[in-house]
Amino acid sequence: MAAMKTDKSTSIVEVVAFSGFDKALAYAVPPTCRQAVVPGSLVRVPLRRRSELGVVLRLGTDQTIPPGKLKMLYEVVQEYPVLTEELIDLFRWAVRYYASSPEAVLEAMIPAAIRRGMKSKTLRYIAVGTSPSAEEMMQLKKRAPRQAELLRFIQTQLKPQPRATILKRMGMSVSACQALLSKGWLVETDTEQPRIAYEDELDESAEEITGTRPTLTTEQAQCVDSILGAIERGGFSVRLLHGVTGSGKTEVYLNAVERTVASGGGVIFLVPEVALAPQTVGRVRARLEARGVKTVVWHSHLSDGERYDAWKALASGAAHVVVGARSAVFAPVQNLQLMIVDEEHEPSYKQEDNPRYHGRDVAVYRASQNEALCIVGSATPSLESLYNVERGKYAVDRMFKRVDHCELPRIHLVDMRREGLTGRHKGSPVSSMLAEKLIDRFEKKEQSILFLNRRGFSTSMLCPDCGYVAECGQCSIPMTYHRTDGYLRCHLCAQEYKAPQNCPKCRAPGIRFRGHGTQKIEDLVQKILPRATIVRMDADSMSKKNLYRKILGDFRRGRIDILVGTQMIAKGLDFPNVTLVGLIDADKSLHVEDFRAAERTFQLIVQVSGRAGRGDRAGEVIIQTSTPHAPPIQFARKSDFEGFQLEELEQRREFNYPPFRHLIRHLFRGRNPEKVNFYIEQWAKVLEQAMGDSIEIRGPAVAPIEKIRDEYRFQLWYFAPSASQVIQRIVSLREDFKMDRDVFDQIDVDPMQLS
Ligand code: ADP
Ligand code: ZN
Repeated sequence: MAAMKTDKSTSIVEVVAFSGFDKALAYAVPPTCRQAVVPGSLVRVPLRRRSELGVVLRLGTDQTIPPGKLKMLYEVVQEYPVLTEELIDLFRWAVRYYASSPEAVLEAMIPAAIRRGMKSKTLRYIAVGTSPSAEEMMQLKKRAPRQAELLRFIQTQLKPQPRATILKRMGMSVSACQALLSKGWLVETDTEQPRIAYEDELDESAEEITGTRPTLTTEQAQCVDSILGAIERGGFSVRLLHGVTGSGKTEVYLNAVERTVASGGGVIFLVPEVALAPQTVGRVRARLEARGVKTVVWHSHLSDGERYDAWKALASGAAHVVVGARSAVFAPVQNLQLMIVDEEHEPSYKQEDNPRYHGRDVAVYRASQNEALCIVGSATPSLESLYNVERGKYAVDRMFKRVDHCELPRIHLVDMRREGLTGRHKGSPVSSMLAEKLIDRFEKKEQSILFLNRRGFSTSMLCPDCGYVAECGQCSIPMTYHRTDGYLRCHLCAQEYKAPQNCPKCRAPGIRFRGHGTQKIEDLVQKILPRATIVRMDADSMSKKNLYRKILGDFRRGRIDILVGTQMIAKGLDFPNVTLVGLIDADKSLHVEDFRAAERTFQLIVQVSGRAGRGDRAGEVIIQTSTPHAPPIQFARKSDFEGFQLEELEQRREFNYPPFRHLIRHLFRGRNPEKVNFYIEQWAKVLEQAMGDSIEIRGPAVAPIEKIRDEYRFQLWYFAPSASQVIQRIVSLREDFKMDRDVFDQIDVDPMQLS
């Protein structure tokens, strides 16, 4: 077989098909396709008697194929390769590092529309061709007066017109055209119709329309200097931009982007949330448009057509800059020289499904692959990034002041344990201090935002007599009560039923609902301020692109007095007229089984506080908590980043948690708990024996959420100084470990979600 793979290498290729086969297969290339096939080509191949699409990973093969067994690929589907050589390397790395299946990684990397072989949307144009002689024209008028009319009409047009428009206007069918086309009196051309998402974002604010650049503050200028220095030097490096909220980090990024595109470099700009992409893309476009550089937007809410066009613009080199959420880290940007990861601490950068990659970490890897600069920015950097600064892997640029001398807001803590004891707001989730300040702002025509800590489960049903809590039968978590329709719903499996009037256990009437959702807060505040316009924003409105934009637009224009939402809406919002921010249940995120609980709580308080006082008026923040003395809350109140970082890193060091070691989480699940437990224990023994001296194994233990959708969950934690060095071995041991088919397992490298 050796001869086969070497001398005619382009006549055999290895293909990974999108069909659950999960292995590269070798195919012969028919002579007609040999020119077109390159690594990364999308091809159609025969597989299990079907025709499937797949990607060529390499030319040639090391596989030994019995003679006559090699099947022939059918065709090359896309004009551009769907992966570049660079992206094929990245693909191989991601498969290894995240212990993921090749197919899942390809699906994350290549948008579905592209994978399915979508083509550009073309519009057919029609124009006059050769002129008929006078004789021919007469004949035509006699035999086919309608066709003659059509021809005359088109002759009056100065430029080619869309065929469909003309036919509609003339009330004629395609066949009339056809006859004229066949005589050559008309000609047709196809023109690609690009669909550019968010073209209309430019009206977000005055600055963005004109693209005027503000004079940099001293701190911004220093950061820009050192970043441009790094760009000039070239080569791979990572810089943390640690700037307090409102210090103007975006402006620093924009300067880096401009310098990069000026020298022909490509840029990927990541934002943590789909909803933030339009805002940022508007700013970037306003700056780059004048240079004739095209920017595209990239995230999961685009239509297939928009996706395709964005992809094509990058793949063809027509656009050099992409702004997008997590998956944009895989965008086919050419000559990539700059990666920006804004709000790098956000857990949303981690995909909680296969492949379980972290957008920031992939960005850093991809920057290294391209000898490029990666800037990760945040007001509350992750401990991982802070530690990388501490040990010299990342450089750091800091901004301590807000632009325009705005003060950081004053933060008040309200001890809700005391609040509960007295006063007319006894037991209310809105403290009297918060209520007073809301009234004050409303009277001054200033705006407020109220955040509800979303972690944990908001409103559950509780029997005050026997203490019964309604739990989902399939998942071991409390059901959430929805006030609008009086239903109880499980947030994990979506099971639902009407909330009972009496306790199902002791039959006592007067069942209660504890905790509070955004809706309850909205109702309460409306009672305090009947004339105020209050709007609630939750996961639902976040997923509707237009609704979200409308609400934010109304808020910006001052049509809304108070915005109520979960911390989901905290990210990156910048409204100058907001002078009050309230955080309800600040400590809810502290009491979860997660070694990052303190970090998350600190980040949450600092981030939501950062939404206040961004204009000329000073802002105030009210943090409601039952544990006012908890260190992350105290550090956040004093905006003491150093203090928090030192203490938290010390804690992590003591327990040898990330960032000091990598964590790999291995979850086993299945309907039969004994069986799952049996296999995870067997597996733990195998692993301990084989790798006990290179990794620390903890568990097996029941997962914090014991059961989801009737599947019982157990987990193992592995700690290792380097994930990449151990993961291959774990995966290959796992491949040789046989389990019953109704027990499943999943490996999560550098997990963020520990429940
Ligand atoms: P961050 O991301 O650091 O929280 P932003 O980048 O959102 O801050 O900037 C906050 C606000 O300050 C924005 O409205 C931005 O337009 C404005 N801004 C940024 N830099 C300057 C500057 N040098 N002069 C005046 N305004 C600025
Ligand atoms: Zn459930």
